[in-house]
Formats: sequence, C-alpha cells, structure tokens
Amino acid sequence: MSSSPVSPTIPLDVDGVHHGFLKLPHSRDDSAWGSVMVPITVIANGAGPTALLTGANHGDEYEGPIALQELALTLKPEDITGRVIILPEMNLPAFAAGLRCSPIDGANMNRSFPGRPDGTVTQKLCHFIATRLVPQADIVLDFHSGGRTLDFLPFAAAHILEDKTQETACMAAMQAFNAPYSVRMLEIDNVGMFDTEVESQGKVFVTTELGGAGSSTPRTVAIARKGIRNLLIHTGIMTGEMSLAATRQLDMPDESCFLFSDQAGLIEYLIELGDPVATGQPVARIWPADRTGVAPAECCALRAGILTARHVPGLVKMGDFISLIAAKVT
Ligand code: ZN
Repeated sequence: MSSSPVSPTIPLDVDGVHHGFLKLPHSRDDSAWGSVMVPITVIANGAGPTALLTGANHGDEYEGPIALQELALTLKPEDITGRVIILPEMNLPAFAAGLRCSPIDGANMNRSFPGRPDGTVTQKLCHFIATRLVPQADIVLDFHSGGRTLDFLPFAAAHILEDKTQETACMAAMQAFNAPYSVRMLEIDNVGMFDTEVESQGKVFVTTELGGAGSSTPRTVAIARKGIRNLLIHTGIMTGEMSLAATRQLDMPDESCFLFSDQAGLIEYLIELGDPVATGQPVARIWPADRTGVAPAECCALRAGILTARHVPGLVKMGDFISLIAAKVT
C-alpha cells in the first residue's frame, strides 16, 4: 500500500463515537502550512459489517450532507452492530464553495478515482478513500442529486455488473434503500467514478439521485434519511423493521435514454419530471435567446419512457444535457 499524505484525526477502528477529520496538508497563498479538513465520524460497536456513507462527492448536492450530518449527530453505538463510517462532505473544498468540482484543482471528484498519493488535492483525497476506507467497507452508499444544473426524479440506483452475484447484492441494496424510483443504471462516462472504484473492489454499492436544482426539499431529505436507515437494517448493522413503500422500477438500457442540446438558447420543457414520453415526442423546445422571428428547435425523445432528469436553469448551451428518459420496467 503506497503512503498517503492524508491522516485521520480519529481512530477508524475503536468502539464508540469519534468525530474528527481527514487532514490533508495543503500549502497555499492564504495559509502556508494549512490543511484541508474533511469531516468524518466513525461509530462502532463490536464485530459486524462496515458501512461507508458518503455525501457531497459533488459539492452542490445536498440531501446526502443533510441526512449524514444528522446521522453523525444522532446515531449511538448501542444502536448498531459493526461500524458506520460517515463522510457527509467527502469533497469538502467543493462543498464549501457550493460547486460541483473542487475550486482548488478544478477536479471533478467523481472522475478522479482511484486517485494518486502524489497528485492534486482531489486526487490525494480520492486515493485515501479508495485505499484506506473502501477496503474496510462491506457496503458503500454514495449520495448524489442533480446539483445546480440538473434535476432528477428521486431514485436509488445500482449498476449492471459483470459479476452477477455482486450485481444481485447491489440491486437488493438499492431495493432496500426504497426510493420512490429504483434504476438499473447505465453510466455515460464511468471512468474515474467512485462507483467504478468501489465496484472493482467487489463491494456492494448503491448510489442515488434525489432531486437537484442546487437545493433540497423536505421530501428528498426524508427519502435520504429513510434510505440510510433501511440500508443499515438490510446490512445487519441496525435491527428493526425497514420502512418500505412502492418503488417504480426503471431501466436505462442504452444511450437512447439521453438527449443533448445541439444549440444554445432558452429552454421550454413541454412535460414534467415523471411524465410518460413516446418515441419522437417533443420533450422540450429551445427558443433563440438573441433574436425574435425564429421558430424554436424541438428536442424529441429517442425512446419511450418517463422523464427522469432534466436540465436546470432556463438557458442551455451547445452540448448541454437536456433529458434522461428511462424505460419503465413492466
Ligand atoms: Zn453528483
């Protein structure tokens, strides 16, 4: 194992509740001998499984940080068997700036795994998480939502994997999370993702997209809170009854799920998130932002399904994501 410049300020394997930081020296103009301090809580009670729960992998996504801050504050060792490692703001520099990517090195944490011990700040954090925390975990839950430029139907997701035993375990964990929607997910760009790193280590991995548009809602935070508890019960770390409601199953079979803009302008959505869509149906139209007398361009669905994610805010640029249309599983 290569050495890491990141050092935890608390023990990771001692029973009880420990609140502290992952401390990474970061010398810079405003603090010559300064450090990046990523908050971490470890709650442990005897032998049992370990869950690693992470939020703010992207710094502008808020359900995970809220629900995990609350968990770190309220979960007691006597409530569990095993261990819960909580990183509510794993990409602290991005979270502190309200940005998706780190303002220190411009890196997208979820494209920077497995990281490097001698790389940038983001790469060093990724390397520590990938080599020191993930190997200790039996299950990893990484919270996402849409951030400032996407809005999603609230869903939990698991990936299609080559190892079908692992895939089955991931899908079962996704069902246990019990978001209103459950998605078999295809990634359009999975190189460097935390998901890919965790899955490559053979772990059970669940992710979410719980909303977006740069904020959270009582409903989406409640989904996060319930999902954590359900998953800890599912994993055997907590006891009790899972809270289970109906969840709609969605699939992302191929790239026809995604629509991207081929021009800039003012976007007008013609349907709401959750609405059904037929192949060829206009999802949105894009009005010119700089002149009158020009008809809007139509953005038409490449497949049938339901509108699962959309762009925010109102202006789009060339190449921006327009819509995710996931297929209903009958
Ligand atoms: Zn994200």
